[in-house]
Amino acid sequence: MHLGRLIAPSPERRQMERTNRSRDIRTYSLDELTELVKELGQPGFRAKQLHEWLHVKNVCSFSDMTNLPKALRESLEDHFSFKVPTEIVKQVSKDGSRKYLLQFSDGVSVETVGMPNRNKLAVCISTQAGCAMGCAFCATGLAGLTRSLTAQEMVDQVLHVARDFGERVTSVVFMGQGEPLANFDATVEALRILNDPNGLAIGARHLTVSTCGIIPNIRRFAELPEQFTLAISLHSAIQPTRNKLMPGVKKYTLLRLHEAIQEYVEKTGRRPTYEFAMIEGINDTNPEMQALIDFCAGTLCHVNLIQLNDIADSPLKPSPIEKVETLQRRLTMHGVETTIRNSRGSDIDAACGQLKQRRILKKHLSE
Ligand code: SAH
Ligand code: SF4
Repeated sequence: MHLGRLIAPSPERRQMERTNRSRDIRTYSLDELTELVKELGQPGFRAKQLHEWLHVKNVCSFSDMTNLPKALRESLEDHFSFKVPTEIVKQVSKDGSRKYLLQFSDGVSVETVGMPNRNKLAVCISTQAGCAMGCAFCATGLAGLTRSLTAQEMVDQVLHVARDFGERVTSVVFMGQGEPLANFDATVEALRILNDPNGLAIGARHLTVSTCGIIPNIRRFAELPEQFTLAISLHSAIQPTRNKLMPGVKKYTLLRLHEAIQEYVEKTGRRPTYEFAMIEGINDTNPEMQALIDFCAGTLCHVNLIQLNDIADSPLKPSPIEKVETLQRRLTMHGVETTIRNSRGSDIDAACGQLKQRRILKKHLSE
């Protein structure tokens, strides 16, 4: 029995059929779902049930929605797409983190990492397939940009990890492949979906966007009413070094970046994080350390130091841990809060872009 064929279609219904067949059901808000179930001749409470299956119970097909009438499920199946990404690779680290290569329906794939910690589950998602910014130390940057992701594709990565761990995701960092602020609208849409109290309900402060420093969009980010967290990839506070390491943001000078961040702090009262990957002989010298201290001292910020993740065939090497500890001590002495981060899952190609790079390499070798 097929509900859709039992009801004579209204003009609105016909219009819906024409326009919606390709739209993914998960992109509908609760209000839109309410309209939609009305159109399908169903009572309003079905919209809430549908919304719950999609965004709270996190199922991957209409047939899993067992409290909806079969006819409604079939009708939805006929009229809406419901595309979840396919897991092509999963690596499990000794420390419990899991790294996935997920493929979307057009064949494009991205990396996602799930990092459990006691009763918490953090997820690192990609915002683009590849990246156009070309940072010299980044496997993703070296490969260039394939395309930006949609908000739903970002959310899908979180849902995939939640499903795989069978746990609630407690925080999300937008620190996988791609530059979130070069895909601003989709990133903000994804942040809002993840933050939605009727959906995954992840607190805004537990949603962190990391940027290489696209100044106009840092300003737009500061205007958002939600308390989302901002991280900035700094990697050097000396202009010529930063230009070499991060050529894609050359035009956004450190001086202007500093100004934009101070405006962000004034507007939001929030503490930004600076990411600083330490590279031997490049940004771990005395003048580099002093420049970083000058950039941070007296401002509201938190510095994350990380030893560079080695990239195959790259001349850039991680600084010795002693240098990282020296920089932490010096920053702390100047009142700058500093944490040394160890890369989670370093035994599973955890640095961004590495899993994908390895697959591409393997493919080339086997051709
Ligand atoms: N494009 C954004 C977010 C993705 S990159 C940005 O650049 O901030 C996420 C973080 O990983 C950034 O801080 C980036 O600088 C860092 N990163 C990239 N390659 C790395 C490597 N080989 N070792 C350590 N950190 C790296
Ligand atoms: Fe892009 Fe970030 Fe990698 Fe730079 S570090 S190339 S901005 S993903």
